[in-house]
Amino acid sequence: MGVRCSVALVVLLGACRASEATPSRPIAAAPASAASSAAPPAQPPDASAPPALGCLARHYEARAVASLTWDDGKAKTMAQKVDAPDLEDMLSVPYPRGAIAKVDDPEVDPGRARVEPLFRATYGATPAEVSAALVPVKIRGRTVSFHRRAAEALRRVAARLDRLADPSIDRFFASLGGTFVARTIAGTDRASAHSWGIAIDLDPSLGDYWKNAASARIAWKNRVPQSIVDAFEAEGFAWGGRWYHYDTMHFEYRPELFDPDCR
Ligand SMILES: [Zn+2]
Repeated sequence: MGVRCSVALVVLLGACRASEATPSRPIAAAPASAASSAAPPAQPPDASAPPALGCLARHYEARAVASLTWDDGKAKTMAQKVDAPDLEDMLSVPYPRGAIAKVDDPEVDPGRARVEPLFRATYGATPAEVSAALVPVKIRGRTVSFHRRAAEALRRVAARLDRLADPSIDRFFASLGGTFVARTIAGTDRASAHSWGIAIDLDPSLGDYWKNAASARIAWKNRVPQSIVDAFEAEGFAWGGRWYHYDTMHFEYRPELFDPDCR
């Protein structure tokens, strides 16, 4: 009852304000302009604005792209980009395609730098928000939960894998490592791509992970076949096997890394 009264009161007050404002056009128009100014102003046509910003805005929440720092002006190592990236850092290491190759340069981790506010604005600010956006996707006979913004791309990966008609790949999907998990990356306070529902781990028993290396020296290795990697990359998924800090069971939806306009 109390709720109904206060709703009625708001309606009445609203009606009251509207009628007070009616004689004056500028005041009557104020709510409309207030609403449009609630959104951050669109990027002014600025010759110095990097074209990649417009490209990022096609793949991520555009208002977040417009409000985040493009370039903080700091020269960074790959590790520093991963720890504290700006938008430019996210795109600064070209993502390689083609034949799987050993990665032996510590500066080559394309896709490991993620500007977290961009992902939170795009995919969900909390685990509950991300959970609410998950939809089922079938891949090699398994059903996984994936963010709806990335689900179509994962379905296309599944269709590509089906077209391979190669039963030898099925062992990689027999016991999937998982998709959505609200967690940070082990040993860090950084959110994993899994916390946004845009990453999938193949069978962990067939994956290799740099932190599990027996020696202190990181020596890249991989057992995931080219055909699986090609199917994912063709649909905008970055593969952890392209990283010096390798995680070969891991694929995450990062369409900007494959869009020539984002370079
Ligand atoms: Zn993963």
